Amino acid sequence: MENKEPLIHDFDLNLICDYFGRLERQGPGSPESTIRALSFIDNFSNELKIADLGCGTGGQTMILAQNTKGTITGLDIFPDFIEKFNTNAEKLGLQNRVKGIVGSMDNLPFQNEEFDVIWSEGAIANIGFEKGLNYWRGFLKKDGYIAVTYESWFTDERPAEIEKFWVDAVPEISTIGHNISIMQKAGYSLVAAFTLPEKCWTDTYFTPQKAIQKAFLEKNAGNKAAEAFVEYMKHEAELYSKYKQYYGYVFYIGKNYKKMKWSTPPLRITASDTRDGSLFDSFL
Ligand code: SAH
Repeated sequence: MENKEPLIHDFDLNLICDYFGRLERQGPGSPESTIRALSFIDNFSNELKIADLGCGTGGQTMILAQNTKGTITGLDIFPDFIEKFNTNAEKLGLQNRVKGIVGSMDNLPFQNEEFDVIWSEGAIANIGFEKGLNYWRGFLKKDGYIAVTYESWFTDERPAEIEKFWVDAVPEISTIGHNISIMQKAGYSLVAAFTLPEKCWTDTYFTPQKAIQKAFLEKNAGNKAAEAFVEYMKHEAELYSKYKQYYGYVFYIGKNYKKMKWSTPPLRITASDTRDGSLFDSFL
């Protein structure tokens, strides 16, 4: 790692877990944004069955539980996070409706069409935006909703330094318009998309990190990887303050719809579309 800046994927998972387990949230977000996204879901005050994928220690899950009826299953790959998640649910008296389980978002232990809502804040990049939207849709009821936050470009162009940082971390990162079209292609209609306000990064993500970095370094004293990890996280915060007009998290809220057998042909017809005449045949 000497001459090369480390990438997030280079760090040991136990270190990442130790660091983020000390925080209420493991990614940018806020109670207000979670509630705002929830407000786009019709009948959200009915008894809903919700899955929260990549739930972490449950910051957003508990907000969802306090603002809905029904049950929520949180799923995360790190057992330590799930242990904290279930302790948090109990502290808030939510343990009968909210349960955390260890599992992977790309191999879900659920039934087809089991959920009214699939929620995921700051986590879908781990499976890939397109892959996650496609795979998770199978677990949604007809007319069910998906609500995810995902790193997105706000502009068509940006400085090379920030482009490199995010392409290394999230190779599929794209613009909001492109992400919406991916969502539509995956079989959802767009209900809403909004960018998370800056304070979701500063007040609930970067500022709380400052408060835990000292204790984290003390516990891992002499561990070069732990020092490098803190430097990486400080660098991420600096980049955010320098380049925040170019990127951020966007909440994408979509509704599952049953894809038609006969879908409308593409509006732009090219020579290759019509080579065998089949496209025109379908109009006749
Ligand atoms: N939703 C939380 C945590 C976001 S951080 C919040 O907004 O605060 C991303 C989370 O995804 C982490 O908790 C990480 O452990 C989890 N994760 C990463 N890969 C995963 C996978 N394959 N399956 C399930 N969870 C995963």
